[in-house]
Amino acid sequence: MVPSGVRLRAPAPGWAIDADVVVVGSGVAGLTVALRCAAAGAKVTVVTKARLDDGSTRWAQGGIAAALGEGDTPAQHLDDTLVAGAGLCDEEAVRNLVTEGPDAVRRLIATGARFDTAPDTGEILLTREGGHHRRRIAHAGGDATGAEISRALVDAVRDAGIETIENALVLDLITDAAGRTAGVTLHVMGEGQRDGVGAVRARAVVLATGGMGQVFSATTNPAVSTGDGVALALRAGAEVSDLEFVQFHPTVLWLGPDAEGQQPLVSEAVRGEGAYLVDADGVRFMQGQHELAELAPRDIVAKAIMRRMREQGAEHMYLDGRHFGAEMWAHRFPTILAACRAHGIDPVTGTIPVAPAAHYASGGVRTDPRGHTTVPGLYACGEVACTGVHGANRLASNSLLEGLVFAERIAADIVARPAGPGAPVIPVPSRFPLLAPEARYEIQRVMTAGAGVLRSADSLDRAAAALRRIQHTAADDLERDGKTAEPCVETWEATNLLTVARVLVEAARRREETRGCHWREDRPDRDDAIWRRHLVVRLTPERTLAIHTTETAAFPPTATLPDPADTPGGASGTTQGAASGAAPGAATAPAAAAGAGQAPRPHGARAAGPASPEEIS
Ligand SMILES: Cc1cc2nc3c(=O)[nH]c(=O)nc-3n(C[C@H](O)[C@H](O)[C@H](O)COP(=O)(O)OP(=O)(O)OC[C@H]3O[C@@H](n4cnc5c(N)ncnc54)[C@H](O)[C@@H]3O)c2cc1C
Repeated sequence: MVPSGVRLRAPAPGWAIDADVVVVGSGVAGLTVALRCAAAGAKVTVVTKARLDDGSTRWAQGGIAAALGEGDTPAQHLDDTLVAGAGLCDEEAVRNLVTEGPDAVRRLIATGARFDTAPDTGEILLTREGGHHRRRIAHAGGDATGAEISRALVDAVRDAGIETIENALVLDLITDAAGRTAGVTLHVMGEGQRDGVGAVRARAVVLATGGMGQVFSATTNPAVSTGDGVALALRAGAEVSDLEFVQFHPTVLWLGPDAEGQQPLVSEAVRGEGAYLVDADGVRFMQGQHELAELAPRDIVAKAIMRRMREQGAEHMYLDGRHFGAEMWAHRFPTILAACRAHGIDPVTGTIPVAPAAHYASGGVRTDPRGHTTVPGLYACGEVACTGVHGANRLASNSLLEGLVFAERIAADIVARPAGPGAPVIPVPSRFPLLAPEARYEIQRVMTAGAGVLRSADSLDRAAAALRRIQHTAADDLERDGKTAEPCVETWEATNLLTVARVLVEAARRREETRGCHWREDRPDRDDAIWRRHLVVRLTPERTLAIHTTETAAFPPTATLPDPADTPGGASGTTQGAASGAAPGAATAPAAAAGAGQAPRPHGARAAGPASPEEIS
């Protein structure tokens, strides 16, 4: 582990408080870690960017997957998850998920979450979603599962008296002199004792910052999902993995060609209950494409929709659920019905215009089965993490479950480790520029055009060049006039978005195949011989990206990696500038030594590779 030394430009902390554990983020993952740590006696502080219930969790509709139904088993859930993951799931991680999942859901119910139950038997009602061969999705309030989970967890956190700091954006990790986690710096918006930049000192930091959907123009993710946790982890020297695997949800309400930001989702559960996809001529185009038709895994459905849109020159397709009737729409899907009607669409009498939009980050900060990242004392949980559970594509409704199961694992690990770090070393102010707030929209447009559902070497090269220009313009302004954007939430978020966008594009350029939710038009086939492995990225002190591939599809245990500078052939010899044109199989750490005879094909001759190392900040 080598801290990059790169930080967000920010004032020095003006205040500090202490805790045993800082949890960054208040979705299902963060609040579950907080509750379980607090129950074991740890002093927990939850820091969250907006209000406690702002995050993707609140928006989750369909439900949470677990083998709770009669005849269903964790083994069947495992099979479906592995199929969706397209050869890149870590089987041990999935086994942990599916075997511990049912009890984790029961504990969530014991915490106060109320799921929909059959009035006569009281049993939890289960629905089906894409890729599941059984009804195993528990839901609440019809299609308001996330809102109910969030309500229950927020209530429990308040009842437990856990300290929470809302409207506080976490900036960077603080470490001690030995590189162990010692807390975070954060900026609190608002008035009061803890106004402005401060620090929370703690021996364990849990990143639970959710996804990065805001890196694209149209997404189902809320405004807070700007990839802050991944960017922070990179700056702290942690490894991230699988960022190229962005799941685009196939059925997002289409609100016009210029719609930007968070868009309403039309849950897969609507198809699970029998709605089907049609084109403008009323033809059911999913039939014959997959044995599960409309309930095929999401990438299959998203691709089929995009193909049909291209063939017909259409901007969207249609979802037809008119046969449900008014009563079923009102009781089973009240949220979706209201969202449609708010935009002048009535699903009871008409079809719903839908198109794919960015939905879920399958990759993230690389962790082992106990949530450790490669930085000692830094954990990652929920959507920000890459546990190996999702592989190249997440199975529907496995993410809330992942948040729950791995939160409990992390809490157990934290409370079992009493040792604290040494004195925190307060980071020196960064020399690197911040981006102006408007850069956010430019990044989103670049990413949607070049790294969206349809990708190719050309589109990704164009995206990489455009992102580099954004970076260089900011750096040139700083060098020439000493000017950079003022530190504030918008400029920190834009800077984080650029960091994750550049890593995502670089990984997508390197993965020269089509797999799971990564669809390369120029490489339409899955290439197991070469690419059944993960791309792992970290940020070097020189602000370049070091990229390597794992030996196999399994996620190697991430005990904190040795400092590559101390290992033979370490950082100085093998670190690759993200786009330096070097072969991607070469390793920067022992865990990444390329498998004998299986090294990925060299990319050295690829014309697209820029000549100089990629700089990131
Ligand atoms: C519309 C929609 C529908 C979905 N439906 C389902 C479903 O039916 N089933 C399912 O399993 N999954 C679903 N998902 C995915 C699932 O909701 C998420 O993956 C999951 O809720 C993520 O939980 P989390 O705790 O990791 O992050 P989130 O719930 O996103 O929480 C992240 C938290 O981190 C905070 N944060 C971010 N950056 C910072 C920072 N710098 N400083 C401080 N705080 C920060 C945010 O404010 C937020 O509190 C859906 C997602 C969306 C968007």
